[in-house]
Amino acid sequence: MVTQANDAAPHEFNPWLHVSSLIENAGHLLGLDQGMIKRIITPERVLEVAVPVRMDSGEVEMYTGWRIQHDTSRGPGKGGIRFHPSVNADEIAALSADMSIKCAVVNIPYGGAKGGVRVDPTLLSRGELERLTRRYAFSIAPMIGPDRDIPAPDINTDFQVMSWIMDTVSMLRGQNTPGVVTGKPLSIGGTLGHAGATSLGVTICTVALLHGLGRDIANERVVIQGYGKVGAPLVKLLSERGMKVVGIADIRGAIHVPGGIDHEVLSRHFRESGSVVGYPGSDTVPAHDLFTIPSDIAIPAALGGVITADIASSMAATIMVEAANGPTTGEGAAVLASRNVPVVPDVLANAGGVVASYFEWAQDLQGFMWEPELFTQRLEKTMHEAFNHIWQRHLDLKVNLRETAIAVGVERIAEATTLRGLFP
Ligand code: NAD
Repeated sequence: MVTQANDAAPHEFNPWLHVSSLIENAGHLLGLDQGMIKRIITPERVLEVAVPVRMDSGEVEMYTGWRIQHDTSRGPGKGGIRFHPSVNADEIAALSADMSIKCAVVNIPYGGAKGGVRVDPTLLSRGELERLTRRYAFSIAPMIGPDRDIPAPDINTDFQVMSWIMDTVSMLRGQNTPGVVTGKPLSIGGTLGHAGATSLGVTICTVALLHGLGRDIANERVVIQGYGKVGAPLVKLLSERGMKVVGIADIRGAIHVPGGIDHEVLSRHFRESGSVVGYPGSDTVPAHDLFTIPSDIAIPAALGGVITADIASSMAATIMVEAANGPTTGEGAAVLASRNVPVVPDVLANAGGVVASYFEWAQDLQGFMWEPELFTQRLEKTMHEAFNHIWQRHLDLKVNLRETAIAVGVERIAEATTLRGLFP
């Protein structure tokens, strides 16, 4: 069950109640009535499923999974599926609400959803992982579909997991159903351009923020936490636009290169060693000191909850762009606000990934593959328009970019909800 405010454990951070309060504040900022605010906060559908899996040993193990559709007033639900031992209903509900806001912020015709199974997939064989995925997909199949709710990869799920889900749903329906998930391989309905789309969106937001603040792009120094699917392409994209990446961290540690990192050298070094640590000519610094490296722009692109009040107080950069999901704690956000550090929030900065998913789904429905140039051109246009709209509204509303983005998302959901009315 998703926790209600009255049942919450005092003093314990609850991501669902945190998101609910952000939506509530946005509703008040917009002057929405309490009935509409409650309607937007409350998830539309919460499905909890038992997932029995026959293990390689012959024993049957039980797992629990969820799929939550938070809001579908603007279109079918959209959101990833994660496999992780800490998954629970409140986390999935919070992430589904984030997706409602994110899709509305970039103005794509989707609502928000999320799913997950409480499991440590590193303990499963490939056969066990496939059986778990297919049984979970079967259990949530009545709720998902190209016109209902479209899952995507998230933590510990990838193109292979998406392929199994697509196949399971296709077998159940007796027809090929590529539009039921995004993040698929090209050969079964994926799209060119998907890899790197999130990083391109982060780059567009970074450049647009610098323009908005009247700052010169050339030689702006950047530190990035994370060198994975989002962080690694960022080094190239930001360098190509004239910025200097001077610090980067991965799970093994952080490096400082005052003269700027060469993305090709780093990519080669990472391929050979499996880490950014040891990049030729770099100083190794403790991972928790990454954000104190002299720099102008901070980009968390790894974990949630890392920009705490402490990290925010000692951060050297004067602007931050959230590539990761939920990297900043409430206290961290308050410290950055008190230091007048502009922050492009995750619901805008990393939305390039869901925009790419939208383009994959549109191509699946059309049965027509776009050229990569068309994909990139449309992605850039969508992200530019989203940033410019949020920037302008933040000047009008006189609140920070995070509050503005959530307010714009809530406003668009409220508009759709009002137009559609209340059934029956
Ligand atoms: P990933 O697993 O490919 O990469 C994660 C990176 O973070 C790795 O380099 C890892 O070494 C590093 N890391 C892990 N723990 C760390 C630590 N304690 N200190 C420093 N670095 C650490 O993940 P990803 O797909 O690049 O996602 C990164 C973030 O971006 C996540 O928050 C994810 O939710 C968010 N995001 C990703 C996408 C996408 O398209 N992949 C889209 C939207 C949001």
